[in-house]
Amino acid sequence: MTLDIRTILVLFILNNLVIGTLFAVAFRGRRTRATDLWIASLAVQSIGWLVFVARGNPPGAVSIVLAGTLISLSYSLLLHAFCEFFEFSVKPLWIYLPVALTVIIFESNLDNAAARNLASGLIFGVQFLAAAALFLTRRDRWRNLRFLIGISAAAIAFLFIARSVIAFTDPGSIPVFPENSPLQTVTLLVGDISRLAFSFGFLLLIEARRSDEITRLATLDSLTEAYNRRTFIELAEQELARTHRHPQPLGLIILDLDHFKQVNDTHGHLAGDAALKHVKVLAERCLRQQDTFARFGGEEFCVLVPDTDMEGVAVLAERLRKVIADTPLELPNGTRIPFTTSVGACAMPEGMKEAGLDNLIEFADLALYEAKKQGRNRVVVENLANGLSALA
Ligand code: GH3
Ligand code: MG
Ligand code: MG
Repeated sequence: MTLDIRTILVLFILNNLVIGTLFAVAFRGRRTRATDLWIASLAVQSIGWLVFVARGNPPGAVSIVLAGTLISLSYSLLLHAFCEFFEFSVKPLWIYLPVALTVIIFESNLDNAAARNLASGLIFGVQFLAAAALFLTRRDRWRNLRFLIGISAAAIAFLFIARSVIAFTDPGSIPVFPENSPLQTVTLLVGDISRLAFSFGFLLLIEARRSDEITRLATLDSLTEAYNRRTFIELAEQELARTHRHPQPLGLIILDLDHFKQVNDTHGHLAGDAALKHVKVLAERCLRQQDTFARFGGEEFCVLVPDTDMEGVAVLAERLRKVIADTPLELPNGTRIPFTTSVGACAMPEGMKEAGLDNLIEFADLALYEAKKQGRNRVVVENLANGLSALA
């Protein structure tokens, strides 16, 4: 099967323009350096192929060098976009070196199409191999998507390098444009399909990361990256419902840092912020995976402790109090800021269906108030069963 190479290339260019325009519109208002570089790459590539298709036969010197340079530049821009996306730091010199090589090699081989095929195959192949390596070696949640994109980039790299090898071993088998051969058709078709997988894969990756970021912002507290109050309530309601279905005790601990206003007043608000982050790190060291830790607001934190009775909750509460009292915050300048926390805790006994989350929070709060009243830096545990019967 041999298709008209001009038609394939025109479709290729139109595809690029449509994709580029769609992306430019879709990313308006939330452009990043990566998306800008990507769109620039599509535009430059379209012009490069346009110059290639429009060239005369035999082609003029300017169009040969210009087409090769623009196509190589578009691949470098693409690689640059990927480096930006993955925050992979590399000197731009390395990214754009292939473009300079293309100019030099094309300039010095104007009359030797086989040499240009050999060199461009290798240069473009290496550009795509670098892109493939980037996608295949990153570490994040979207392994399958990255794998698909990496494999598509590797397929394009393979095609370019194969062309280069063929240009070396059998120069006559790569006809001069616009003549075609089955090899040219297969190269262009596979290249186009891989490029589609590659482009849409990257788009999906950008969107997946964005949606993850939105979820993160909505569920976590931006300072400490602990769960925020809203997420805590949601998770706690789910846990409570589960506890009612499969009876087991459920504990709740509330911590309120002592005299925290003084920490801010003495050391500044930034030190106060660092202290809040410090508490989160310390608390997580004491917790199990199933415990839910959240910043409830201001300098108040809470922990939902599934499958734990009053004694267990009291032990954990004391551990939290102690680790905070024993581990002052150390600022980068060496200043040590000791501070303490008061802790209120309660636990819902197994099978106590009448208690709701409001009751748990109310009783842990009462206990916290009592701990503050008794002089701070201490734990008070409120008996929810007694409390509820007292209220009844
Ligand atoms: P107490 O022992 O009675 O709890 O005293 P306190 O000073 O901790 O309590 P108070 O409620 O008077 O003050 C809470 C302080 O927590 C005041 C506020 O500036 C500080 N705070 C709340 N949120 C933040 C925050 O995000 N960053 C910083 N640095 N401070 C915060
Ligand atoms: Mg408070
Ligand atoms: Mg406080």
